[in-house]
Amino acid sequence: MLYLSTRGNYDPVSASTAILLGMVPSGGLFVPETIPLLDTERLLALQGRGYTEVAQQVIAPYLGDYEEEEIAGALARAYNHGRFSHPLIAPLHRLDDGLYLLELWHGPTAAFKDMALQLMPHLLSRALAKENRRDELVILVATSGDTGKAALEGFGNIPGIRVIVFYPYGGVSRIQELQMTTTSAANTGVVAVRGNFDDCQSAVKALFADRDLKEELRRKGFSLSSANSINWGRLLPQVAYYFWAWLQLREKEGPDACPFNIVVPTGNFGNILAAWYAWQMGLPVKKLLCASNENKVLTDFFHSGLYDSNREFRRTSSPSMDILISGNLERLLFAVSGNDAGRTRGWMESLGGTGAFQVDAKTRRALDGLIYAGWAGEKETMAAIRETFARYNYLLDTHTAVALSVYHRYKEATADPAPAIIAATASPFKFSASVLAALKEEDPPQRQADEFSLLEELSRLSGMPIHPALRDLQHKPVHHRTVCARAEMGSVLLELLEKQ
Ligand SMILES: *Cc1c(COP(=O)(O)O)cnc(C)c1O
Repeated sequence: MLYLSTRGNYDPVSASTAILLGMVPSGGLFVPETIPLLDTERLLALQGRGYTEVAQQVIAPYLGDYEEEEIAGALARAYNHGRFSHPLIAPLHRLDDGLYLLELWHGPTAAFKDMALQLMPHLLSRALAKENRRDELVILVATSGDTGKAALEGFGNIPGIRVIVFYPYGGVSRIQELQMTTTSAANTGVVAVRGNFDDCQSAVKALFADRDLKEELRRKGFSLSSANSINWGRLLPQVAYYFWAWLQLREKEGPDACPFNIVVPTGNFGNILAAWYAWQMGLPVKKLLCASNENKVLTDFFHSGLYDSNREFRRTSSPSMDILISGNLERLLFAVSGNDAGRTRGWMESLGGTGAFQVDAKTRRALDGLIYAGWAGEKETMAAIRETFARYNYLLDTHTAVALSVYHRYKEATADPAPAIIAATASPFKFSASVLAALKEEDPPQRQADEFSLLEELSRLSGMPIHPALRDLQHKPVHHRTVCARAEMGSVLLELLEKQ
């Protein structure tokens, strides 16, 4: 199985090289040259077995230059070592007749990115070994809060890899800061940078471009890398849980429960693209529902064929979906254009140049058959949280609430009787302030001084235990206290790497 560039500007590479490179060096994303069909009979025979066995069947065909045992080992370390607080890893929760939530938030940071970031570092570490690399890989992350901790948890204690996270000093919540600074793995570093997130991010980009720094790192045996969400190694682990959801659905609804709809709260288009890959592999999907918040570029795109990011950016209560450029859409466009790298490159160059592109009528029709797109505003999102709790005694986080809200709208419009699975992407405790405000019918508050009391309050009100990733944080020892100016980031990085 080889990987092609969506822009036709790179020779095909193996899976391990695609994962090591992250993205195509001259622009573009790696995609598998063909999508393997899964033998569903063989998969059904795994009904009742564990998550890793099912995941192995799904991901192994994509990892041509990995041994079966390597994949099994990586899966076991990611999902079987007690890092997920639910024995099913991603349990399917029945909300109502034909309506289910796939809970993807039982991992170490309470959001769905753990599903990928727990596995990807093991795939990367094996890829390093395959290429006989002697240097250590240094993963640099600039974070506005959440991705930093997910990366620290994923890359912590992985041989051959260091991970250094930079966050804006005073620019993340107290809980986010403690999640990061209480990380104990010896190969991790966490640094607060004076400035805001954009400063932090542009400074990290500057580190990647700094030749002198890279040369000095090389002499010391290090090379820089990132854990970007467009890396194939981040996408692939997500394909597995849609099959896992199907097996659980069959247990609950009986063997005739297909085809079904999948509803995904979408930002960078990674999670929903993973569902599309699962569908292409043979998962009995009827429709994919792409749910956006008020930053509804994708909804407009699927309705009109015009992708236009030239609009006001809105801050919403579902911040992980506050995105105007959905990086992974490029992979879907490449596929629906019939692997037409020329046209894909044209669209992406237009997006880079003018912030917009328009697809032709044929491509639009092809997309139409695949995806129903909708969006939900802040009021509807808050109402979905409140009503779901009142009716089912179940707490949604803000992102999942956007998805449920879009699904309700779809159901009203179409009366589609097919069962639906909603991707539940975060624990409600991760967004306590907004969820509490929804329950109490108040305006979402500005950042609160004492988030720990909000966790307690939400737990009291709902009767749900606080997610283990967020519990007792204030009592854990802090291991990282470095604060620096932007100009000092390079030297701080070198110091940290030598100390570790
Ligand atoms: C990242 C994230 C999303 C968006 O997922 P994409 O793969 O970027 O579309 C949705 N919800 C939560 C909680 C997230 O962290």
